[in-house]
Amino acid sequence: MDLVNSMTTEATVVDQRESLAFDTDVLVVGGGAAGVAAAVTAARQGVKVLLVERYGFCGGGAVAGLSGTICGMYEASDAPNAAPRQVIHGFADEFARSMSARSGLTPPVRYGKTFTRVHDPLVWRETADQLLQDAGVQVLLHTTVIGALVEGGEKIDGITAYTKQGKCSIRAKITVDASGDADIIAMAGLPTFVGDDGRVQNPTMIFRLLGVDTERFLAVQGEDSIMGPDVTNLIIRLHNSHEYKLPRAKIFLFPTPRPNELLCNCTRIIGEDGRELNPLLVRDITEAEIQGRRQAREYARFFRDRIPGCEHSFINDTGVQVGVRQTRQALGVTTLMNEDVTRGAKFRTGVARSPWPIELHSGDKPRLVWLIEDYYEIPYECFVPARGESILVAGRCLSAQHEAMASARVTGQCFSYGHAIGHAAAIAVKNNMSPRLIDGAEIRLALNRDGAEL
Ligand SMILES: Cc1cc2nc3c(=O)[nH]c(=O)nc-3n(C[C@H](O)[C@H](O)[C@H](O)COP(=O)(O)OP(=O)(O)OC[C@H]3O[C@@H](n4cnc5c(N)ncnc54)[C@H](O)[C@@H]3O)c2cc1C
Repeated sequence: MDLVNSMTTEATVVDQRESLAFDTDVLVVGGGAAGVAAAVTAARQGVKVLLVERYGFCGGGAVAGLSGTICGMYEASDAPNAAPRQVIHGFADEFARSMSARSGLTPPVRYGKTFTRVHDPLVWRETADQLLQDAGVQVLLHTTVIGALVEGGEKIDGITAYTKQGKCSIRAKITVDASGDADIIAMAGLPTFVGDDGRVQNPTMIFRLLGVDTERFLAVQGEDSIMGPDVTNLIIRLHNSHEYKLPRAKIFLFPTPRPNELLCNCTRIIGEDGRELNPLLVRDITEAEIQGRRQAREYARFFRDRIPGCEHSFINDTGVQVGVRQTRQALGVTTLMNEDVTRGAKFRTGVARSPWPIELHSGDKPRLVWLIEDYYEIPYECFVPARGESILVAGRCLSAQHEAMASARVTGQCFSYGHAIGHAAAIAVKNNMSPRLIDGAEIRLALNRDGAEL
């Protein structure tokens, strides 16, 4: 018997440190846009809320992944000079106003036929800290959930987590899976699915470019953060001539609230061997991080050499992690269908709305399918798992088909989902009822009392 085999069969895991234990009404796993909104909303209803987050700060994809803008707040229009028309209110709007008051959010910036708003990632973290604290949410940072506590087959009683202090168990009346990856649903053995038959949108390493003469940059490129055909064709030419390695030609560049800075959403991370990566796989996400850093350097070189206003620019930093658009999703009682998005579907139990296009990052360039002067709604049942009790989902791991998810995943909507699911969790606790018995129309009323204007 070789050494490795003998060790794995004979060794036992021993951790003699005392375990930590918590009890709460509502447990929120994940401090991204959805988790923060869910935790704050539930706590404001007077129930006891605990939020756990694996990083040392909240923000998830928006901050650690540096996605950097709040998309999904404004309707799209074909009119070239249309003014921004905001159709998302409630928690998303509150968070935006709060960041704006701290000088951490730009006014609406043009993005094709619509608008987005660019934020400062540090201000995002601070805003979340303040809202959570003011609402009385207990927050555990650097706490990674590693298991689900399951009773009688499918009732979720809470979770177990890893902390540097030792193991931790948290019991909760209602658990909200806002992990982005449907981690708790998967750990509990409840039904999940991955993308389009296992194929997910590609990751992007976002980075911030400092030392930019943004006035000159804007004077040449115009106000649209989606770069036009001149830049696209230049990238294609330089990539094909092997002068630069630039695998994505349609790129997004946003001036940020900070002076002389561009937020660069331009990389397209695929495997060294050309395969599409699945960030759920350890091997793939490792490769994505390394490729991402390499590609960020190469795009920065291209900007410095070829884009007016960027002559003296340099990378300030990349995201803490590669930006992950899509992984595992919970199978819900209802699934948001691709055609719900394209036809602007409205639902009696709609608890959030989205005017955002299908923005599918798959293949050579992102594909955009616009919804013009309209929005669709997302029903409550997309956040209620098909099976399992005492558990809800919030955020990008909602039940939605592949293309629908490529629209429904953006931050404005994730705030709205958290807002809705925070209310649902509080209603379930206060009435000692199963979340699946709540009528989504009741949540809609609660959201409108908070100014969601649904
Ligand atoms: C490259 C890229 C660009 C994007 N661009 C934009 C954009 O410009 N505008 C826009 O609005 N949206 C954009 N998005 C989408 C948006 O950032 C995300 O979809 C959104 O932030 C998701 O929010 P969420 O709360 O659902 O999940 P996440 O933000 O993923 O939050 C999940 C949280 O859970 C934590 N977590 C996960 N697992 C565990 C665990 N086991 N234990 C404890 N904690 C855990 C994570 O650390 C994270 O903080 C982009 C996304 C990507 C990847």
